[in-house]
Amino acid sequence: MRKTKVVKVKNLKIGGGNPIRIKGMLKSPTSKKSLLLQEAKALQREGAELLRVAVQSEKDTKLAQFLRKSISIPIAADIHFKPKLALLAIKDGFDQIRLNPLNITRKKDIKEIAKFAAEKKVPIRVGVNSGGFKGRLTPLGIARQMVDKCADYIKILESQKFFDIIVSLKSADIESTLAANKEFSQNFNYPLHLGITASGPRLEGVVKSSQGLGILLNSGIGDLIRVSLTADSLLEIQVSKHILRFLNLRKFGPEIISCPTCSRCQVDLVKIVNILEARLKRLELKKPVRAAVMGCVVNGPGEASQADLGVAFSKKRGAVFKKGKVLHWSTPSKAIDDLIREVKKDGF
Ligand code: SF4
Repeated sequence: MRKTKVVKVKNLKIGGGNPIRIKGMLKSPTSKKSLLLQEAKALQREGAELLRVAVQSEKDTKLAQFLRKSISIPIAADIHFKPKLALLAIKDGFDQIRLNPLNITRKKDIKEIAKFAAEKKVPIRVGVNSGGFKGRLTPLGIARQMVDKCADYIKILESQKFFDIIVSLKSADIESTLAANKEFSQNFNYPLHLGITASGPRLEGVVKSSQGLGILLNSGIGDLIRVSLTADSLLEIQVSKHILRFLNLRKFGPEIISCPTCSRCQVDLVKIVNILEARLKRLELKKPVRAAVMGCVVNGPGEASQADLGVAFSKKRGAVFKKGKVLHWSTPSKAIDDLIREVKKDGF
């Protein structure tokens, strides 16, 4: 894994071998404060470790104080076009600000922000998105421009002795995101916030984000992820957790291994898995537990026995396994109760 400098956003350490962090984004209008707060609480509860708020006006810079009354995770202000808002967001208590090198460009402004951020110990994310470039560019052309813009910006910040920098290089295209982040990581040791921007509708966005972030994370690149979907912000956190969990980078409570079902399956496995998933979620387990639910004897006993717990169905009955051993036989209607009982007994 690539070891970067550690940047602290409030009390959250990012980079340097710390766990890959999950960032969430508030989507409610900032004018609807109760909705915004509700969303922030839900994202924190789901596992977001840092929250990003779009700061578009002087009124929005007060949101850090408002959210902090009920939210314990750090809050980042996403700022475009107006350097004054960056200064106000720092003054009004945001824990991090994001600057876009494509729309806050005057050296004088950048230096002033860097000085004030250093004084208040507020880190800056330098975030470049492919959407900021005009014209038709090749994926590698986009990557080149993103890295160059970022490098120029970093030079200005460093000239002010400002080093609490996190970088994001996001494109709607996987190829350019990979190329930009790979190149950046070879030349700089600032932590990388990864994301595929404007990733598309729900299903496409989930696949594109999983592929793009998965490839980078698996090569040791990336210190924080923010999944962007044209969908609910809660789903973005859930997908982030799945990406990290399936790469064995983080552990988050229960994981269900279930087969896709086929003509051999003689029980309603989809229903069983859905009920099990809901009941495990209600238990709010913090420790990881792998529960396998398999439709027949082809792969069932193997998967069930490799998990912490499992049930492998054979015709209308299911063998309940725990740590590789068959405990007893059960029925589809009782199997879930049996698994849940064992989960509670072992206090996972
Ligand atoms: S485990 Fe059995 S039921 Fe499930 S997909 Fe495989 S063969 Fe089909």
